[in-house]
Amino acid sequence: MNILFMGPPGAGKGTQAERIVETFEIPHISTGDAFRLAMKQGTPLGQKAKEYVDQGLLVPDDVTNGIVRERLQQSDCDKGFLLDGFPRTLAQAEALDDMLSDMGKQINHVVNLKVDRSLLLARLTGRRICKACGATYHVLFNPPKQEGVCDKCEGELYQRSDDTEEKVGTRLDEYISKTAPLLAYYENKGLLREVDGEKEIDTVTSEIVSCLKGQAE
Ligand SMILES: [Zn+2]
Repeated sequence: MNILFMGPPGAGKGTQAERIVETFEIPHISTGDAFRLAMKQGTPLGQKAKEYVDQGLLVPDDVTNGIVRERLQQSDCDKGFLLDGFPRTLAQAEALDDMLSDMGKQINHVVNLKVDRSLLLARLTGRRICKACGATYHVLFNPPKQEGVCDKCEGELYQRSDDTEEKVGTRLDEYISKTAPLLAYYENKGLLREVDGEKEIDTVTSEIVSCLKGQAE
């Protein structure tokens, strides 16, 4: 089963992806990992990618697509894979369709974790860090006993400037506007499986699993 995983930051995509690859015994392929591997192994594409990364430049699509293609051709992907972090654009989605069709494969399901923007904001802006000892807390998931004070050393807690509502809101809006055309693309192909990511972690997992098992490949 070939699965594509999508969802905004804060939706719990990483956690769910780990559980799904365990359930279906397929590799979890993130573009970040595929890049690191290609660069470490020094493949021709890996070397090319490294040149761009070293100069702080965006890696062009033909290199990115090539690295994904090489990864998907490895034998551990024979019985399926979960792809995470790719494609990010329509052009990449079309390139992915082409490379899979060359391999006699196709995407079977596109899982999209849906979480309301206000809840994402609450999750992503809740982190607090101790000025004195660096301990981290979360106002929702791991609150200190006393608001604004470190449990361990009584130091003052602060919010990183990247975690403010304004910064996080901008990141979320960018994600939403960039992925909207992708979601439409996969919806048109009848592949999109929208899952409510606001429920308990276990409930979300079982809903994804039944979604994937329920609809024949
Ligand atoms: Zn502390």
